[in-house]
Amino acid sequence: MNDLEIELDRLELIPVMPIPDHLTGEVQSKLAYVDELIASAQVPPPGDQIVLRLRQPAGSLPEARRAELEDKVQRVVTSMVKGAFKPKIQVLEDHLDRPTPFSEDPMSQLAGRGEISQEAPGVYSLGPLVTRLIGYFEGRFLDLAASFGAQPYRFPTLIPARYLERVNYFRAFPHSLTFVTHLREDLDAIDHFSQLAACDEAGVLNTPPASFAQVQTLLSPAVCYHLYFALADKTLPGGKLAATAVGNCFRYEAINLVSLERLWNFTMREVIFVGPKDYVLENRETARQRMHRVLEETGLAYRVESANDPFFIGEFRKQAAFQSAFQLKYEIRARLPFKERLALVVKRSSPPSTLAVGSYNYHQDFFGRNLNISLPDGSPAHTGCVAFGLERIAFAFLAQHGLDPAGWPVHVAEAIK
Ligand code: AMP
Ligand code: ZN
Repeated sequence: MNDLEIELDRLELIPVMPIPDHLTGEVQSKLAYVDELIASAQVPPPGDQIVLRLRQPAGSLPEARRAELEDKVQRVVTSMVKGAFKPKIQVLEDHLDRPTPFSEDPMSQLAGRGEISQEAPGVYSLGPLVTRLIGYFEGRFLDLAASFGAQPYRFPTLIPARYLERVNYFRAFPHSLTFVTHLREDLDAIDHFSQLAACDEAGVLNTPPASFAQVQTLLSPAVCYHLYFALADKTLPGGKLAATAVGNCFRYEAINLVSLERLWNFTMREVIFVGPKDYVLENRETARQRMHRVLEETGLAYRVESANDPFFIGEFRKQAAFQSAFQLKYEIRARLPFKERLALVVKRSSPPSTLAVGSYNYHQDFFGRNLNISLPDGSPAHTGCVAFGLERIAFAFLAQHGLDPAGWPVHVAEAIK
């Protein structure tokens, strides 16, 4: 059997109810969590079938296993598509046509120059050029924070399970959680581990599950949650707060963990506002206007448009519609020219391919109510945050401008010298 035959052997096509264009990306990303047999999943146009590549030949699956796989796929599609309505995308800024000289995928050049080194799927070390570039963007975000007089904070990388429970995180985003454990305080378990621990070929530790303590702690999925927990069950002194922090964030994205685009372990800088509704909404909008000037200097081609969070299947339709109706989330989406080139190669005209590099969020009084953060008049605080993915913004910049600072917009090139 040649490679092509092996590939074809692993394909499974599943006819499904028609998936509208605006949902194909969401459905495709959720298929990553449906079954461990799935190595990749596509929803090709016109969206009436799912193409799965399996980890073993489709023909070798017992019929019952195949039926189970198909059933899970159908459940995802039905749950996300049935009754869904097309959200009206609101575009606040459109600078996608800004000239960008580069059109290749920067990953192979970055790897070739030792600028990235993959430790595991979605886990990378970054070299001097990328680190300096991130430093440049961090400088701009810190200027933005300073323009609001934001107070600096430092937050832990771990987050207690009971915190996430209080803000409904387990229901909304169970698929992307990362759990933390340690060996039980038990001499035999620790001795056993120290003498026998070894990884198999796939890198899996051979430790018996009973050696591990139960999970009380996770790796943090976002930065601003820590501030809200620090303010929980109290009255906010002065009635308003602007804060800023940077932190490691973790979102497990399974087979979608490809390149610097989608990381398991990434870094987020946030500027966070807590106070009355108007204070939060006005600052979110001011932040957007100030970032407009900054992003212009960086030469980034991007658009700011309404968006929704990647809620898990059962919660998706309702929560996404709610976010859209109340304009709770806007994303800064940067162009990835190399993706458009790929689309041309397969002769498919497609809308510009973009990647979210940041977001402007308003949570209404969700955290104020759930965590009992009060304003001096006794009402629950409103919250909002402006969040930037540092690796993503650097990646999008490199995808648009290449790796040679000589060809970069002067402002950026000068700053990283
Ligand atoms: P969000 O809170 O989901 O709006 O995330 C804020 C920003 O973090 C996004 O706009 C991305 O730039 C970045 N981000 C989110 N998820 C990932 C990921 N898996 N890998 C890299 N960056 C991410
Ligand atoms: Zn946030």
